[in-house]
Amino acid sequence: MPKLPIYMDNHATTPVDPRVLEAMLPYFSGKFGNAASRNHSFGWEAEEAVDRARGQIAQLINAKSKEIIITSGATESDNLAIKGVVEFYKDKGDHIVTCVTEHKAVLDSCRALERAGKATVTYLPVDKYGMVDPDDVRKAITDRTVLVAIMYANNEVGTIHPIAAIGRIARERGVVFHCDAVQAAGKIPVDVDRDNIDLLAISAHKIYGPKGVGALYVRSRGPRVRLTPQMDGGGHERGMRSGTLNVTGIVGLGKACEIAAAGMAEENRRLLDLRDKLQAGIFERLDEVYLNGHPRERLPGNLNISFAYVEGESLLMGLNDIAVSSGSACTSATLEPSYVIRALGVGDELAHSSIRFGIGRFNTEDEVDFVTDRVTREVRRLREMSPLYEMAREGVDLKSVQWKAE
Ligand SMILES: *Cc1c(COP(=O)(O)O)cnc(C)c1O
Repeated sequence: MPKLPIYMDNHATTPVDPRVLEAMLPYFSGKFGNAASRNHSFGWEAEEAVDRARGQIAQLINAKSKEIIITSGATESDNLAIKGVVEFYKDKGDHIVTCVTEHKAVLDSCRALERAGKATVTYLPVDKYGMVDPDDVRKAITDRTVLVAIMYANNEVGTIHPIAAIGRIARERGVVFHCDAVQAAGKIPVDVDRDNIDLLAISAHKIYGPKGVGALYVRSRGPRVRLTPQMDGGGHERGMRSGTLNVTGIVGLGKACEIAAAGMAEENRRLLDLRDKLQAGIFERLDEVYLNGHPRERLPGNLNISFAYVEGESLLMGLNDIAVSSGSACTSATLEPSYVIRALGVGDELAHSSIRFGIGRFNTEDEVDFVTDRVTREVRRLREMSPLYEMAREGVDLKSVQWKAE
């Protein structure tokens, strides 16, 4: 019996890896210098630590150290990339191409620019697996387009977009390509050169690092990408992001990147085994369950399932010793079904009944077995109380039923 509660929501955040914590600890007290202090050893020590971390971050995505701009997390990285490009290239154009299943940090940055009259935005649809068609990107680009913003892998359904193909199209058309790689970098191989990526957002707390620190990769040549800073001040980070550096956080992010790069292949095999076991266990035991996301081109730790005739929220309540997310709750306090699941063409009912399992580095096979068992029992229990499920089982076509008005 595994220790409860079980955390299986690793797309939302991850625990700090003990090796990351250990690397960070000295920089809270003894080595507390300001990395911008140029005239004493305290400053040099901090700067050295930041330089090392910058190298570790760069290596994870095949970039150069000087191309890494430290931020407070991926929300800031996405804001800086999108607003920074649109403002800097305003004489060239004002059009953005993005997609409907992007993270709110991207969608709301685009909306803010639209509302301010600074940009027009094309929101590309996705197919039933949540994937963008590179041809749609090609067709959407106009002479006014200054930015393509498509995420590497989706945080709800795990679908991995054909990023190299999209990058090639953007490069051919001379349009800057920003990629929110928060769920991909450190999980699957990401290479800014192979993928023709110009700007890329990552976040430490999604890869077993601390919360409140992230980075934006900014291509320095072939072509050099320019940005209007969104934070003014001391001119840190080559003028692109002022503010005293969060040295402990940066050390943590660097270490998290190093660990992720070194163990990626092995960890992926392990996560895939656990994920496939969970998926098979649920699908073998229950009828009327549907996979959301791409069957193959999907993050190894991701499993998003709709359990027909069951409210995701009720299911979550029944699973009080397991931490997972539902497609009803993740957007806000309102019970709107997830915009990501809906964008796949899944109806409201099934979107409301979706649960996201995020398997991570510290989950065990015991936990997967426990979760399989708890979920199947809870779904059966809820369905036993559902008249709709009874009717469907008796062969009633629910779509043809004339419901009596209240
Ligand atoms: C978590 C997440 C973000 C936001 O990152 P923060 O560092 O928490 O601001 C952005 N994009 C995606 C895809 C995410 O999963």
